Amino acid sequence: MRGEFELIARYFAPLAEAAPGAQGLLNDAAVFDPSRDDSLVLTIDTMVEGVHFLPDDPPGLIGRKLLRVNLSDLAAMGARAIGYLLAGAFPKDVDEAWIAAFAAGLAEDQEVFGVTLYGGDTVATPGPLTLSLTAFGEVPEGRALSRATAHAGDEVYVSGTIGDGVLGLDALRGGLRALDEDQRAALAARYRLPEPRLALGRKLVETGLATAALDVSDGLVADLGHIAAASAVAAEIEAGAVPLSAAARAALVSDAALLAALLTGGDDYELLFTVRPGRVGELAALAGRLDLPLTRIGRIGEGQGVRVLDAAGREMDLPGGGWSHF
Ligand SMILES: [Mg+2]
Repeated sequence: MRGEFELIARYFAPLAEAAPGAQGLLNDAAVFDPSRDDSLVLTIDTMVEGVHFLPDDPPGLIGRKLLRVNLSDLAAMGARAIGYLLAGAFPKDVDEAWIAAFAAGLAEDQEVFGVTLYGGDTVATPGPLTLSLTAFGEVPEGRALSRATAHAGDEVYVSGTIGDGVLGLDALRGGLRALDEDQRAALAARYRLPEPRLALGRKLVETGLATAALDVSDGLVADLGHIAAASAVAAEIEAGAVPLSAAARAALVSDAALLAALLTGGDDYELLFTVRPGRVGELAALAGRLDLPLTRIGRIGEGQGVRVLDAAGREMDLPGGGWSHF
């Protein structure tokens, strides 16, 4: 395999071409000129082989997911995504084809999301392959979304559908045999390639519609718990109102016990946000403009913790769910 500098020149420098401040990755650091009146928004995520992905996962998809989970955090803050820094710790036995496919995946998603590499670092490791990505973006000063600003009386909304990520991982591990091949593939695709809701995040900032927001990565119930804890309020979810994809509905028909996994599984990367009751009428128009379902799933009240209600209005007993006290 080529040496470190040749690998960077061949596979990573092309990813930085659109960023003048990256200077072809030839300087010691990149230079970035923030826009006047904007705040920088920064986030980092790390993925470890054997923990966050498997040795035989396609390298292009690993690169794209690593970028997308970071962009989802920028979306949660309402930021416009701009660029990223990348660090890779590669075991000695990684081959050049792996790095080429990983970089090709990043190049593909740079086009999709309009972001550029600004810099990075590669090292050799005696441990597992480890990849860390720092993404940055901008939001008008003082306007970044927060999980700490929900109020009693707000309605709770979520974008897209919930549960596909956890079901997709199940399908990739050979589970969900009751589903047909297309349904299993649709769920697996949602697990491998989450869709960061950047356009929604920016619209929530522009319109001022969201009182609080975050992206669903830990699980719907736990993440609403984060909003409740940070905002010092209580939250309630109506399980029957949670939006599900056709494949997730089919999975639930085959095994009703999957409902708990859908509500708590995580890896959804949808935006969960709260809205004052007087403004919920504006959400239908926004959903139409974005061509993205925005669904009311519950409400915020006084108190603390998260309660999940079944169709009959009874409190559900969920692992890690129910009223948890922080
Ligand atoms: Mg997040």
